[in-house]
Amino acid sequence: MNIKIFIIVCISFVLNNLKLLGGGKPDNTRPNIVFIMSDDHAYQAISAYSNKLIKTPNIDRIAKNGIKFTNACVTNSICAPSRATILTGKHSHLNSKTDNYFPFDTTITTFPQLFQQSGYQTAMFGKLHFGNNPKGFDQFKILPGQGNYYNPTFITKKEGNIQVKGYVTDIITDMTLEWLEKERNPEKPFLLMYLHKAPHREWLPAERHLKAYTSNVYSEPSTLFDNYEGRTSAAKSAEMNLLKHMNWAGDSKIYPEMMDKLGINATTEWDKEGFTKEYNRMDALQKANWDGVYQLVNEQFEKKYKAGMTEKELMQWRFQRYMQDYLGTIAAVDENVGRVLDYLEANNLTKNTIIVYTSDQGFYLGEHGWYDKRFVYDESFKTPLLIQWEGHIKPGRVSDAMVQNLDYAQTFLEAAGINAPSDMQGESMVPLLKGKINGWKREAVYYHYYEYPAVHMVKRHYAIVTKAYKLIHFYHDVDEWELIDREKDPQELKNVYHDPNYSQVVEKLKKELVEIRKKYGDSAEISKGIQEKYLKAIQK
Ligand code: CA
Repeated sequence: MNIKIFIIVCISFVLNNLKLLGGGKPDNTRPNIVFIMSDDHAYQAISAYSNKLIKTPNIDRIAKNGIKFTNACVTNSICAPSRATILTGKHSHLNSKTDNYFPFDTTITTFPQLFQQSGYQTAMFGKLHFGNNPKGFDQFKILPGQGNYYNPTFITKKEGNIQVKGYVTDIITDMTLEWLEKERNPEKPFLLMYLHKAPHREWLPAERHLKAYTSNVYSEPSTLFDNYEGRTSAAKSAEMNLLKHMNWAGDSKIYPEMMDKLGINATTEWDKEGFTKEYNRMDALQKANWDGVYQLVNEQFEKKYKAGMTEKELMQWRFQRYMQDYLGTIAAVDENVGRVLDYLEANNLTKNTIIVYTSDQGFYLGEHGWYDKRFVYDESFKTPLLIQWEGHIKPGRVSDAMVQNLDYAQTFLEAAGINAPSDMQGESMVPLLKGKINGWKREAVYYHYYEYPAVHMVKRHYAIVTKAYKLIHFYHDVDEWELIDREKDPQELKNVYHDPNYSQVVEKLKKELVEIRKKYGDSAEISKGIQEKYLKAIQK
């Protein structure tokens, strides 16, 4: 062999191997990832989890074809902080997003950047809510901030800001399908993040769902009239009660003129604006369709209200109104998830694709009389998580493993054969997904919520959670501990921290809490720094 050719052959052999080491497996074997996430979608509102409220046949397809997690949870139950945990694989105190107030620090590495660097085609459509644009994406079309339900504006990578006529859930899906059809490079594996705004407040269903959903009647949760006794002061002082804190116009869709007519005061200073800013985005036809349904809702309420309603009746009315709109927005999410799954199936793309359905956290659907999230109590701490991966996950599996949104980044990286940075804090779920014996060892997770004082007034707290217990410390302007016995008290109504029968449990969990805080690098000192920075910023 000619020496020059020999050297070229040697160099290309070395380069190829380096590529394999750094970039993982060859591209024809690396799986695609379709990460579907909605915003504030409670597991109680997915029929794979519960049949009480709504049928979600399309989302359920993922559970049927793959695995359903019944103990999946978040590290910090609020929108943007959860998204930061998902993208960075780090707890809030290290990923820069402890609350919704400060923007995300884009110098911190996110897993999509690693996918892009290792040869994946990457795209994001929908809601990010970071206060800046995502890094590591070949294509993105994202909503500014919270975004709007009707005729929304998008920030796009290639076309600047655009406004698109229609309903947000349909539009995000149209963009996703268009990318799959026209922009996807079949030579490369892809990472697709398909992120819904729905069912986030202020819960505006699509026109096609208005009539049916505003006529539905839903069964009340048994804790709708919770009086918050038997726990620390945190539940009682929170401002997320359906009766006391929900907006009349913005949330319950009582028109501002009707509020004036009935002499109803605005709940918050943005109550009426919460309604008008969305309503005024609609065109004449959309408004006519909307009015055709909601004027009737308003007229029916007027009659009842004038006849006199007790507090209990008002609470029940607000619960029904809330569920009708919240679940109405989920009807469109489910239909659209079906469109994407249909496309993947029709184009032979499910064979080598990990499909995930999750939410950035759970949500209260009247449990404890609440809406919103933030607390470490189950409805907001847990989040839906369904994953299908043909040939790797046995269809129809159910797992109660204590997995967390902290784990997604390392799971996807391992599945793609990309090395995860050593400072990521999650664990890869790949062995668990593949059904390996001892595929998951974690028995306790760490939680830390920061945004206080702020809307909804949920006090700062951190917690250690096992399958059996939750040990919670509320701090900032209080210093209160709570122990929940998850097996005996699944509705989380009783603090047993001071019960002598639990003194050994408290002692053991306090030690474990110290250990888990050390493991993740959190401390009272770090919390104090975060708290001071926040207080200084909100005083300005
Ligand atoms: Ca959210």
